[in-house]
Amino acid sequence: MIAASDADKWKKALLEWDVTSLEEHPSSDGVCVCGQTGLLWMYTITNDANGAELFPIGSSCVNHFGRTDLNRRVDVFHKLALVQATANAGKPVEMTTEFFSRAALKFLFEEGAFTPDSYNYGDGVNDYEFLLKMFGKRDKSTITSRQGYKIRKLVTSKIIPFVLADPRVR
Ligand SMILES: [Zn+2]
Repeated sequence: MIAASDADKWKKALLEWDVTSLEEHPSSDGVCVCGQTGLLWMYTITNDANGAELFPIGSSCVNHFGRTDLNRRVDVFHKLALVQATANAGKPVEMTTEFFSRAALKFLFEEGAFTPDSYNYGDGVNDYEFLLKMFGKRDKSTITSRQGYKIRKLVTSKIIPFVLADPRVR
């Protein structure tokens, strides 16, 4: 990895890499560049300084970088991949920690999943803040049927189409 980094010092080299995509291995037989076998989730990491890509990388290898932002990105991609697989299987995607996290909702917002419409008064931030609030409710029974309807609508009409079309999650 150092050979593929521009910086020669290990610590500096670590900062050049970003987690850029995730691919699910159909039979859990992926092999990490480090030699670890049995990968189901295969990540790509990209070097911002020189554009080099490493694939496939297991999440435990990303963990060795010791960077919170990379671990969070791994988790976000993993959750979005579950959303994609569940939607493809025709099963319901719920606003729960199984499919989402605060970081995943932030990622979806920043990447433009919440397109402006008349329901969010022309600003996706309203969808984002609504979902964050609903996601953060510890007692889900306090979610009204009207709120539940809005959550499902945002998941099916915005989040799922966005995730299905995202080339970074396959
Ligand atoms: Zn590895």
